Amino acid sequence: MNLIEQGKFYKTKILIDINANVYFDTIFKYENKKIQIIKRAKKVIELTNSIVFPSFVNAHTHLELTNIDKKKLNFISFIDWILSLIIEKKKKNLEFFLNSYKLGKKILNNFFTYTFGNILSKDLFSFIEEKDFCYNFVEIIEYNEENIEYVNLNYPKISIHSFFTVHPKLIEKILQLNLPISMHFFESKEEFDYLIYGTGPIVEKLYKFTNLTPLKYKPDYFKKFLLEGRNIQLVHLSNLPDFLKPLILKKKSSIFYTLCPRSNSKFGFKSPYRFFIKNKLPFSLGTDSLCSNDDLNVVNEAIFILEDMKDDIDVEILSKLLFLALTKWGYETIFVKKVYYCFKENIPFSKKDFSFYNFLKLFSTI
Ligand SMILES: [Zn+2]
Repeated sequence: MNLIEQGKFYKTKILIDINANVYFDTIFKYENKKIQIIKRAKKVIELTNSIVFPSFVNAHTHLELTNIDKKKLNFISFIDWILSLIIEKKKKNLEFFLNSYKLGKKILNNFFTYTFGNILSKDLFSFIEEKDFCYNFVEIIEYNEENIEYVNLNYPKISIHSFFTVHPKLIEKILQLNLPISMHFFESKEEFDYLIYGTGPIVEKLYKFTNLTPLKYKPDYFKKFLLEGRNIQLVHLSNLPDFLKPLILKKKSSIFYTLCPRSNSKFGFKSPYRFFIKNKLPFSLGTDSLCSNDDLNVVNEAIFILEDMKDDIDVEILSKLLFLALTKWGYETIFVKKVYYCFKENIPFSKKDFSFYNFLKLFSTI
C-alpha cells in the first residue's frame, strides 16, 4: 500500500495537491479532505526521496471485462467488435466477471489509481463491496419499449449505455431519478450515422442481430439532452455532430466529459481532446476496458495526448492540464468527493528537475 493515512504527519521531498500546487521539502497532514502544510511536528513519517500526489482517476472503464481474451474479438469495425464481445460474454458466468472485476481493481491500484468510474453489469451489483458503490455505475441496456416497466433502477449510480441501446422513454425515466449518470456519447461513426441519418451498421447488423426496430431521432432531441441534463458524465464524444459543439462550449457545470483517446484510436476514431484543450474545457481521462486498450494505466492516455500535441502547445502547460484531467477533474467527473493521496519513494529526479512532464513520464512506465 502506498496510501497516505489521514491525520498522520509525513515528510516528503515533493508534494502536489489537488489544484496542482507544488511544495518542496515539506511536512504535511491530510485531514478532512484538506492538505495542511506544517512547520514541525513530533511524530513524523519520513518518506525517502518521495513524491506525494492525489491518486489518479481512471474515469471510464469496464473492469468485469479484464479477463476476456481480446484476440477473440473482431476489430474490423466498431459494431463487429460489439457483436463479437456480446458473443464472447455469453460464454462466461458470473464468477468469471466477478474475478475479472477484482483483478481489474488490483491492476488499477498498481498504477496508483484508487478511484475509478466503472461500468458494472446489474448481476454483479449485489456482489461488490458497499465501499465500492461510489465507483460503479450500474449499466442499463434496454431498447425494447415493452420491457421498460420491468427494469430495476434501484442503484446509487446508473450508466445509460448509449442512445442506441436504451429506449428514449427509459432514458427519460432514468433522468427523472436525478442520480449521477454515466453515458457513452457519440463514440462511434456507426452511432453517428444511426442517430443522425437513421442508417448504417447499427440498423443493418446490430438491430437484425438483436431483433430490434430502429427509431428515428431529431437533432433537437440531443440538444435538449445537453441543455437539460444534470449530473451526467458523457464519455468519448469522438464522433460528435458539429451542431452539439456550441452547447458543450457553454461550460454547463452539471455535465462532465471523459475522453478515452487510446481506446478510440483502436477503432480509427479521433478523441476530441484538441477541442477541449483549445477551448479550456475541463475533462477527465479513461482507459475503457482491456477489450479495447493495451493496458489500464490511465496516465498513458495523457502520454498519448502529449505525444500528439507536443509540437503545438507548451509541453509543461499541457502536462499540468493533463495532471488536472487525471486527478481533480477526474474526481468531479465521476461524482466522488473522497480524494486519496498516495506516495512513491525513490523517484529518479531531483527537486530541480521536477516538472509535470517528468511526473507523467514517471508514472507512464510503471
Ligand atoms: Zn466504455
